[in-house]
Amino acid sequence: MCRPASSPVSSDTLADFFSDHHVPAYCVADVASIRAPAGRHPRDILHSCRTIIIFGVVMPDRLFSGTESEQSEETNNLKQTLESTASALRDHLKREGFDSISVVPFLQLVVEDGILRGRLSLKHCAADAGFGTLGDNGLLIHPRYGNRLALAAVVTEGVIGPGPVTDGTAACTHCNRCARACTPGAIHDGVVTQTLCRNLTDYVPSLFRPLAWRLMRGRYSARLVTVLLNAAATCVEIRGTCTACMTACPHFKIPEQ
Ligand code: SF4
Ligand code: SF4
Repeated sequence: MCRPASSPVSSDTLADFFSDHHVPAYCVADVASIRAPAGRHPRDILHSCRTIIIFGVVMPDRLFSGTESEQSEETNNLKQTLESTASALRDHLKREGFDSISVVPFLQLVVEDGILRGRLSLKHCAADAGFGTLGDNGLLIHPRYGNRLALAAVVTEGVIGPGPVTDGTAACTHCNRCARACTPGAIHDGVVTQTLCRNLTDYVPSLFRPLAWRLMRGRYSARLVTVLLNAAATCVEIRGTCTACMTACPHFKIPEQ
């Protein structure tokens, strides 16, 4: 049965919530405005959802220029902030009686057609919601925070008014700096070939890559890889992440304080 439209949270309450959680940027959108790829749309994870709330935390300088242990510490801090904020918002909405699901980037991975993805395409949703635009390196470019936002979201069946409007625009200039900073051919015509990206290849020894890529493409084996990856994702420490295509981009900005 269709629940009558009502708002489980006001715009002011939402603004206070994100301020209390030290989240500098967020955006609320009607899911009808989201054109994310099939299988990665908000309705694919919560059929009854009507609203998506996307938020971003600024990745600090230490994540890019710190020692390996500093980078690891910052990665864990980011994960914790995204997870705790998304969980708190989801729980609040659920207490108001609206089914809701939180989506964070490090968990809920899916392997399909040889590609490792998040369960929800956060950056596509963010772009469709008017939170920024997508660059040729596949990263979201936010008008104020450039490509420095780590994203998470909550999808809910509650109806919340869209906003706040993201001031200004920023777009990829197709300058090709990201492609030049990466393995030749990995970023081409706005597409990132994942099996050439260090953030995947570094975790798979070269000897096993042909088999691993084949397993990722198989209909049933991809499901097995998905299960194994999600089991591993909760305990594997992410370190030494490549960020060359991000830092080479003119939209990689020093965060404003
Ligand atoms: S480096 Fe240039 S081409 Fe690549 S995403 Fe940034 S603006 Fe676009
Ligand atoms: S993260 Fe590194 S390896 Fe992956 S696409 Fe960007 S520059 Fe290339």
